[in-house]
Amino acid sequence: MGLVLVLGEQAFGWNEQGHMSVAYLAYKQLTPATRERVNALLKLNPKYNDWAATVSQQVPNASAGDKDLMIFMIAATWADQIKRDSTYTKDGGQNGNRPDGSPDPGKNTGYDDLLMHKYWHFIDTPFTTDGTTLPTIPTPNAQERIALFRGVLASTTATDALKSYDLTWLLHLVGDIHQPLHASTRVSSTDPDGDAGGNLVKLDCAKCQLHAFWDDLLGKQNNLKTATQAARKLPKPNAELAAKSDEKDWIAESFQEAQQTVYSAPIAAGDGPFTLSTQYKKNAGKLAKQRAALAGTRLANLLNTELR
Ligand SMILES: [Zn+2]
Repeated sequence: MGLVLVLGEQAFGWNEQGHMSVAYLAYKQLTPATRERVNALLKLNPKYNDWAATVSQQVPNASAGDKDLMIFMIAATWADQIKRDSTYTKDGGQNGNRPDGSPDPGKNTGYDDLLMHKYWHFIDTPFTTDGTTLPTIPTPNAQERIALFRGVLASTTATDALKSYDLTWLLHLVGDIHQPLHASTRVSSTDPDGDAGGNLVKLDCAKCQLHAFWDDLLGKQNNLKTATQAARKLPKPNAELAAKSDEKDWIAESFQEAQQTVYSAPIAAGDGPFTLSTQYKKNAGKLAKQRAALAGTRLANLLNTELR
């Protein structure tokens, strides 16, 4: 049971607080027309009433506008919520983290699809520092899903039902791929198939992994007020970087940061356990905040310019 639980928690991306903070920043930068459109599309999600109830419970006096904002924040965590929902099937190999073995890994039919598609949350771009042969990148993955979903959102022929499903996924995935370990996997003689985005790299505490450390950097709570407060403290993103609209660039940055920062000392070769230094943690926290701020602005730009 313990093992299943640990494996089940792999590759979650920023924790819910992180995803909600990214969504908060994005919503604040949406035009009134785009806000109206996303509000209408999110109403088609089968969990919409639950989200509205959560908002009423956590922030009973919220204005109508703030309610829509907070529903948008919760919607950004839906792709993780379905991993804990027994009506969804954990499809694919390696505990659902690989597309092979899924009955339909590249499905895009909307809410009738009850597959978890955990392998949509990341792209395992491989790198090595010891000359190990690099494996191919599994597909579908977060990069091709983002490209697909933004195409559907821009389409004049797709149904609103499908746009709602693709929008809900997109809100989550834009956050995910700004987490460096959602765009990279370290391949080595220890891990010839890659370290599963740092999930195999242990830190010096019980059940601690490098991947989880990075997921936790934007906060571990699942609370609207806490996420809002955290989002307000995030730095302003670099304007030139924030204007980049191609998801391939966002992923390339994460891949670069993984090699430069995530796998820097005291992370060394092998799977550890490693003891993180104060300086490492400081650099990591700073980078995570910059990535979240970029994700928020880029998500807003995408929706403002592409959603129809
Ligand atoms: Zn995710």
